[in-house]
Amino acid sequence: MSHPLPPFGRRFLDLPETFWRRVRPTPLSDPYWVAQNAPLAAELGLSAATLDAHLALFAGNDVPADMTPLAAIYAGHQFGVYVPQLGDGRALLLGDLPLGGERMELQLKGAGRTPFSRMGDGRAVLRSSIREYLCSEAMHGLGIPTTRALCLAGSDETVWRETAETTAVLTRVAPSFVRFGSFEVFYHRGQHDAVRELADYLLQHHFAECRDADRPYLAMFTEVARRTAELVAAWQAVGFCHGVMNSDNMSMLGLTLDYGPFGFLDAFDAAHICNHSDHAGRYAYNQQPRIAHWNLYCLASALTPLVEEADLRAVLDQFPDVFSRAFLDRFRAKLGLFVAREGDDELVQALLLLLHGQSADFTVFFRRLSRFDGQGAGDDVAALFAEPEAWRAWCDRYRARLADEGSVDAERQAAMLAVNPKYILRNYLAEQAIAQARDARDFGEIERLRQCLSRPFDEAPAFEDYAALPPEWAGEICLSCSS
Ligand code: AMP
Ligand code: MG
Repeated sequence: MSHPLPPFGRRFLDLPETFWRRVRPTPLSDPYWVAQNAPLAAELGLSAATLDAHLALFAGNDVPADMTPLAAIYAGHQFGVYVPQLGDGRALLLGDLPLGGERMELQLKGAGRTPFSRMGDGRAVLRSSIREYLCSEAMHGLGIPTTRALCLAGSDETVWRETAETTAVLTRVAPSFVRFGSFEVFYHRGQHDAVRELADYLLQHHFAECRDADRPYLAMFTEVARRTAELVAAWQAVGFCHGVMNSDNMSMLGLTLDYGPFGFLDAFDAAHICNHSDHAGRYAYNQQPRIAHWNLYCLASALTPLVEEADLRAVLDQFPDVFSRAFLDRFRAKLGLFVAREGDDELVQALLLLLHGQSADFTVFFRRLSRFDGQGAGDDVAALFAEPEAWRAWCDRYRARLADEGSVDAERQAAMLAVNPKYILRNYLAEQAIAQARDARDFGEIERLRQCLSRPFDEAPAFEDYAALPPEWAGEICLSCSS
């Protein structure tokens, strides 16, 4: 072949077969390219021509004989209920490639049934695959830890969801896809040796900084809790709702993992539920920190064979403070406050209450605030509020707070523009790209959006349309778990 692939590592095979099953992907009929992420390919040492030449591999149709695709085993708490066996029902690990100083694992998602598919067909539909492709890269652009997306192969083969839909295979990329549920499954089966083996594997490959600690397993759990707190604080700060924070969708590395019915807030609604199947609002925007904490309890239980319960409990007890600090740091940065002051928490809470009461657009608000000068009235910001007086009352407090730290407009504005994105993946933008792909087999919008979202803080005149307030119909988009 004229564009040979670099050799894939097989790091996951360091673990015995307790943790995975070998599975050949199910070929996808007449695949075609939907998207190729050239910048990520380059980082992985794949030229654009090499990636392009390997559609058959990335559709799951022609896997080299020396590759051992495998499906990992895990369990998890889904909507609060323990499900003893899940596992990769439609994802297959191909192997790993170097990126920077790390190794990145490549996984095909939607490549057919596995021993863990239960009632599922092993496929992913084009609609949700486009959403995952775009959102992975949008999150990466925002600087938020996430699995990434290398490419997307489509097919006219259909599967049944609420209606017949065409399928796709997404190649996603991460240093590891190990989840909280990867531990839960072995703990609940009483296979405590496997819990230890998996913890050792993670310490060896992913938590080098914990290896030399007095108590490495405790150090690792502390680090997972810290990363999880930081991750959810980062989500809150950009208005991201994950939608299905089951413990099997929680990454041990603190990555955003498993993009399903996620959504970014348009008008700020603290109780927003992005997943229409989530009737009780378990995973609403304002529940995410609490649920992260709850999921860490599930993980802690699974680690009791390795760590004293009192030590696990101490880490769990600290989580609310660790989260609150991370959250406040994020929002101080969003407000351009360089110095921490007593009362900042209250100022932030008052703002969120105001945005909620006035249904102001979260992203546009912070972007416009980034150009606010300490003297003016902030008229373009005021225009986002049904009751501008309510905004002015908060704005007076904010102005006083800025004066209190001697805030310099130009410095503050530059710092705020670097943390308050101009562009986010609003649901309606993803919908437009999906409609073009589905109805006209035109994938240009996917690439255009990916490019824009890879630099969400930059002013980009060519992408100005993506920064507008969402149209009326955006509120009617309905997302369910079905993907
Ligand atoms: P999710 O809600 O996407 O995190 O998936 C929960 C579990 O269901 C995981 O074990 C998935 O692998 C599995 N799953 C989801 N969709 C399918 C499908 N279409 N076919 C097989 N397994 C699936
Ligand atoms: Mg999942």
